[in-house]
Amino acid sequence: MAQDFPTTGSPPMIGRKLSIPEWQNYVANYDFGRLPPSQLVLHHTYRPDENQWRGLASMRGMQTFYRGKGWIAAPHIYVAPDGIWLFTPMSQIGIHAGTGNGSLRTGWYSIGLEMVGYFDQRRPAGAVWDYAKAVMGGLSRRLQIPPRQLISFHRDYTHQKSCPGRAVTKEWVWGEVTAWRRLTDVDYWRRLWGYTAPYHHNWAIPGAWRANAERLGAVRSAELWTTDGLRCMQWFVGGAIVFEKQTGATHVIVTKDVP
Ligand SMILES: [Zn+2]
Repeated sequence: MAQDFPTTGSPPMIGRKLSIPEWQNYVANYDFGRLPPSQLVLHHTYRPDENQWRGLASMRGMQTFYRGKGWIAAPHIYVAPDGIWLFTPMSQIGIHAGTGNGSLRTGWYSIGLEMVGYFDQRRPAGAVWDYAKAVMGGLSRRLQIPPRQLISFHRDYTHQKSCPGRAVTKEWVWGEVTAWRRLTDVDYWRRLWGYTAPYHHNWAIPGAWRANAERLGAVRSAELWTTDGLRCMQWFVGGAIVFEKQTGATHVIVTKDVP
């Protein structure tokens, strides 16, 4: 099993930013040790919000703030406009939700996930929400716990806070994370895709198809290459995708949208 990244300072902070593919690789190979987490508690930061976020400087600011409170740990992960930031290692018990932290004594603990922003009036969207879904969905898959059982809210453990924001509801979060898991399940797409296309030049067409699967529907043809090898096309129930080798561009043509 892979070793975790090193930490610095107090409370110990990894202070490293991951992209979604880097996160998926990290969580898939993560060694949680003898007691894996069984819960994830979702938070919002309130301050700093997305506009005030300054990457590593904001992470260090939080570390100073927690040190001032005498905390020996912190939330595990921050999802920000610029990526997935790691604070407390996921194999360790964090401090973020009071009784919702769990402990060695109680025999369970939670991962604390902070969404950068203030979500009392509006839901998280854009990059912050994409990163949040990847973190929750990735942990749900790695721990083999369905979103509905895994994910709780900070406000479940306190009456003092609306955290992760009044606009954020359980049914919405659970539904979005369940959909994320299906969309990123390679076996699911492999089954749907079938074997009509024996090979793919670079997965540009499957990628474009996946992003438009509802409109395009099932595969109707193999990849059909032009004789000069510069272009190929593949047909679907609802249209076609054209791939241009020189530019790497894909063009999605949905039949019912063509006048
Ligand atoms: Zn909170």
